[in-house]
Amino acid sequence: MRAVFVLFAFLLVSNLSFAQDKVILAIHGGAGVAPKGKMSPLLDKEYRDALAQALKTGYAALAKGGSLDGVEAAIKVLEDSPLFNAGKGAVFNRDGRQELNASIMDGKTKKAGAIAGVSRLKNPISASRLIMEKSEHVFMIGDGAERFCRDQGMELVSPLSLWTERAWKQLQDADEAARKKGNAQAALDTGHFGTVGAVALDKDGNLAAGTSTGGITYVRAGRVGDSPIIGAGTYAENEACAVSCTGKGELFIRHTVAADIAARMKYRGDALKKAATEVLAGLPKIPGGAGGLIALDRHGNVALPFSTNGMFRGTISQTGKIWVGIYEE
Ligand code: ASP
Repeated sequence: MRAVFVLFAFLLVSNLSFAQDKVILAIHGGAGVAPKGKMSPLLDKEYRDALAQALKTGYAALAKGGSLDGVEAAIKVLEDSPLFNAGKGAVFNRDGRQELNASIMDGKTKKAGAIAGVSRLKNPISASRLIMEKSEHVFMIGDGAERFCRDQGMELVSPLSLWTERAWKQLQDADEAARKKGNAQAALDTGHFGTVGAVALDKDGNLAAGTSTGGITYVRAGRVGDSPIIGAGTYAENEACAVSCTGKGELFIRHTVAADIAARMKYRGDALKKAATEVLAGLPKIPGGAGGLIALDRHGNVALPFSTNGMFRGTISQTGKIWVGIYEE
C-alpha cells in the first residue's frame, strides 16, 4: 500500500513539474535557410551550437534580470556570430554597405525602442534598448541614432569589423544574377536574408520581444524592412504575446504581422498557435515562402511557424531544457 502511495506521489510531482516546465525563451536566426541536404554537416552543427549558446546566455540573463535582459542577451550572441545576418555577418545592400536595423519591446509597459540604417554599432539590439530607456523617442535612424548611442557611452565601431567574406560573396552572387538576367528582382530572389530575434517570459509574467537584422542582400540603399517596425517585425504585450518575425519584410509590414497575432488573441480569444500559424499562412504566397516567426505567450505556449525551407530556431524551458531546430523536425 505504501509503495503504491509513493508511486502515486512521485507521478503527481513529476507530472506537475513537467506541466510547469514551460518555454521561457525562444529565438530564431532567420528563415533564409538553404534547402535540406544543401548545408554541410559541419555548418549545420555550427548553427545549432550557436543557437544553443544564445539560449544559454539568454536564459542566464533572464534568470538574473527580466524578459528584456533575456531577449537582449540572446540576440547579442547571435549578432556577434558571423553565421547570422545581424551585427557581424550582416548582408550588404546594392551600394555594398551594411545597414543594420533592430527593435525591442517591453510587454509590460509597451515601451519600445527601434533603430535603422546604422553601420557603426556592434549590437543594434542594445542600441534599440538604449533608445527605449534613455531617449524620449521610439525610433531613430542613421547618423543621429549613432550619435545618440555614442553620447550614451556606446562604442562606435568601424563598419569593417562587421564585414564577413560570406556576406560579401552573397552580394557578388546577387550582383551577377542581376546582370545576367538584366533585372534587380533576380538578385533579390537569390534569397540571402536572415535576421535574428528572441521572445522571453520572466518569472513575473512579463513578456518581451526583440529583432535585429542586416536586411536582405542587394536591397536599395535606405530600404528598411519589418524588423525595426513595432507591430510588423516585433511586438510584445503581456495580455497577448511576444513576437519576432523574419522573412520578406515588405509583406510583414503590409500585414502588420506581429501586432495582428496579438490582436487575434486579445479580441477573438484565439490560442497563440492558431493566431500565429493563421497570420503567417494568410500572407501572399511568394516563391521560396514569405518567412517565419516566433511567438510566446504568458503561459509559456510557443509557436515557431515558417513557410520557407526552414528556420533557425530554438527554445529553452524553465528548467533549462534546450531544443534547437532548422528544418521540419
Ligand atoms: N525581415 C528582414 C527584412 O526584411 C529580413 C529577414 O528576416 O531575413 O529586412
